[in-house]
Amino acid sequence: MIATNLTHLLITAGGTVEPLDDVRFIGNRSSGQLGCLLAQTAAAQSYEVTLLLGPNTVNPPCHPRLNTIPFSSTRDLSAKLKELWPSHALLIMAAAVADFTPKGGHTNGKIRRGNSLTIEMAPTDDIVADLASTKRTDQRIIGFALEEPDELHTAAISKLQRKKLDAIVANPLVTMESQTITATVFCKDGRELSPHPQLQKSHFAKWLIEHLNEILSTT
Ligand code: C5P
Repeated sequence: MIATNLTHLLITAGGTVEPLDDVRFIGNRSSGQLGCLLAQTAAAQSYEVTLLLGPNTVNPPCHPRLNTIPFSSTRDLSAKLKELWPSHALLIMAAAVADFTPKGGHTNGKIRRGNSLTIEMAPTDDIVADLASTKRTDQRIIGFALEEPDELHTAAISKLQRKKLDAIVANPLVTMESQTITATVFCKDGRELSPHPQLQKSHFAKWLIEHLNEILSTT
């Protein structure tokens, strides 16, 4: 059975930046490449796509059915997702979201040089878990888990369940620096789908978009 009528896809890609002051930030090494390829492939395959793209990433793809909107911090991404999510049927959450942000917000101006600097961090909201806990019955969410190879499958399944996702793409840490990806998709109902290992990211994006109905179907 096909899970839902998927026409409007919301895809996040790239990493969040948490400002420390007006000059500096805490970020991560996500290039946004895979999320951009997913957005481009989906648009080419007749989906209407909204791409939320972080700063310092690869160039955004271009297609008449693709609308790219930039985001910066975790808070900014969360606000934009809350606004856009109601008009979409599927969220593919490929963005690398910060787990911590400077407590009390960023410092105005520029932090001056000194003997040492202590920055207290507060946990961010788990955006995808919040969206999943309030989603409509016609909406679906696919998350991503980037993990150490020996913990990959256990950690991904635990995140799938804890965040109440419909599916999660488990991939090892080396994916970040690589042109290829070896991934396993874990579905809510316990199924596992694996494309060929070491696929070019563009081929993996095509595989994932072409298998959406299978991934999201229920047994
Ligand atoms: O960072 P983590 O491994 O928990 O990420 C798993 C999924 O949760 C990813 O899809 C990521 O985009 C999402 N996430 C989120 N909000 C956070 C941390 C992660 O939505 N604060």
